[in-house]
Amino acid sequence: MSNVLVIGGDGFCGWPTSLYLSEQGYNVTIVDNLSRRKIDNRLGVVSLTPIKSTQERIEAWKEVSGKTINFVELDVAQEFDDLAILLGELKPDAVVHFGEQRSAPYSMRGACPKRYTVDNNINATHNLLAALVLLDLDAHVVHLGTMGVYGYDGAGLEIPEGYQQIMVRGDENVIHNREILYPSNPGSIYHMTKTMDQLMFQFYAKNDGIRVTDLHQGIVWGTQTDETRRDERLINRFAYDGDYGTVLNRFLMQAAIGYPLTVHGTGGQTRAFIHIRDTVRCVELAISNPPEKGDRPVIRNQMTETHRVRELADLVARLTGAKVAMVDNPRKEAAENDLRVSNASFLKLGLNPTTLAEGLLSDTYQVAQKYADRINRDRVAAATTWTKNQKPGVVTVE
Ligand code: NAD
Repeated sequence: MSNVLVIGGDGFCGWPTSLYLSEQGYNVTIVDNLSRRKIDNRLGVVSLTPIKSTQERIEAWKEVSGKTINFVELDVAQEFDDLAILLGELKPDAVVHFGEQRSAPYSMRGACPKRYTVDNNINATHNLLAALVLLDLDAHVVHLGTMGVYGYDGAGLEIPEGYQQIMVRGDENVIHNREILYPSNPGSIYHMTKTMDQLMFQFYAKNDGIRVTDLHQGIVWGTQTDETRRDERLINRFAYDGDYGTVLNRFLMQAAIGYPLTVHGTGGQTRAFIHIRDTVRCVELAISNPPEKGDRPVIRNQMTETHRVRELADLVARLTGAKVAMVDNPRKEAAENDLRVSNASFLKLGLNPTTLAEGLLSDTYQVAQKYADRINRDRVAAATTWTKNQKPGVVTVE
C-alpha cells in the first residue's frame, strides 16, 4: 500500500482529498498545524458548515469506512526537525502539499499578514524539499499551486501548462528556441509566494532530482464529495467571509442569507474554476502519474472551465432570486479580461470534468441555506484593499 503524507490535510481541499485517497487504498497521514482554524478565530468567523476537530473527523472516518488516517500536528514552516523525523519514519511515496496560507485578500491585509504569508509559504515548501534531500528520500511532491501565477493578461493566448516556448534572436541574428516557465505575473502577496514556489521546484528538480508535480489550480467551488457526505461529522469546510470565501461559493452563501451578490468592479474578470470533487480526483491522477527522477517539474493546469464573474452572479441571481450589487473593486487587477487555459494533460489522464450545472449549484446553495444562521453578516463583505488609497466597496443591505 502506497504511503501518502498530506500536508494541510485539515483544510478545504486537503480534508476531502485525504478521505478520497484513503478510500482509494492509500495509507494516509495528515500533517497540519491547524493555523487555518486559528486564523478563523482571529477573524471572528467560523466555517459555514460545522466542521469537527481533526481527531473527531478521523474517528468518524474510521467508523464509516474501517480505514485509518493518521494525524500529526506540526508546523512545516517552523518545525524542520520534527518534519524530517516524520518523513524519515514514514518514508512516503508521495507528499501532497496543501499547507500554505491561501487567501489573497488575507495576504494583503497589512505588513503582518504579508510577512506571515511569505514566511509560512516559502519556508513550508523549502523545508519539505530540503528535508527530502537531507534524508535521501525519493518521494513524489505534489504541490497545490494556483492559476493566479500566470496573471490574467493572456491577450488572446491559450495559457499553456507551465512552460512556454520562446524564440530568442542571438548573435548574427540566429534564432534559438527555448522553453521557459510561463512568465509569472502575481496579483497578490499570496500569488507571489506561489510563483516563488515554482522556482524552488525547478531548482530542486534540477539539482537533486526531486520529482515534483505542481498543480496550477483554478478557484475551487462546491463543498461536499462522495466521502464527506457519508457522515455529518465528515462535512467539509465552507469559507464564506470576505477574505477566505471563494467567489462562487460566496455568491451562493449571499443568496442564501438574502444579501446582495457583491460583484467587484465591472465583474468583467474571467477566472478558471474547478469543483471540489474534481480537485480530489486530479490529485490522485497526479500521484499515480509521477515524473521520472531527473525530469523537470510536471505542471498541470487543474481547472475545468472559465467564467466571467458577473455572468456567475447573474446565473446565481436567476436561480435564487438574489439581487446583484456592483461594488468598488478592492483589488488591483484588470477590470476585464479574457482567459483561455489548456487543461489537456488531465483530460489525457482520464479526468471527466464536472462542469457548472444547476444541480451542483443548488446542492451548494442548500448547504448554505441549511447553515445560514452560523453566518456573521459583518464578515461577508470584502474589507481588505490592495493599496492604502483604496476604500472597500459599500454594500447596501435592505
Ligand atoms: P485551507 O486554508 O483550507 O487549507 C490549508 C491547510 O494548510 C490548513 O488546514 C492550514 O492549517 C494548513 N497549513 C498552513 N500552513 C501550514 C504549515 N506551515 N504547516 C502545517 N499546516 C499548514 O486552504 P485550501 O483552500 O484547502 O487550499 C489548499 C491549497 O490549495 C493551498 O496551497 C492553496 O493555495 C491551493 N489552492 C486553493 C484554491 C481554492 O480555491 N481553495 C485555489 C487554488 C489553489
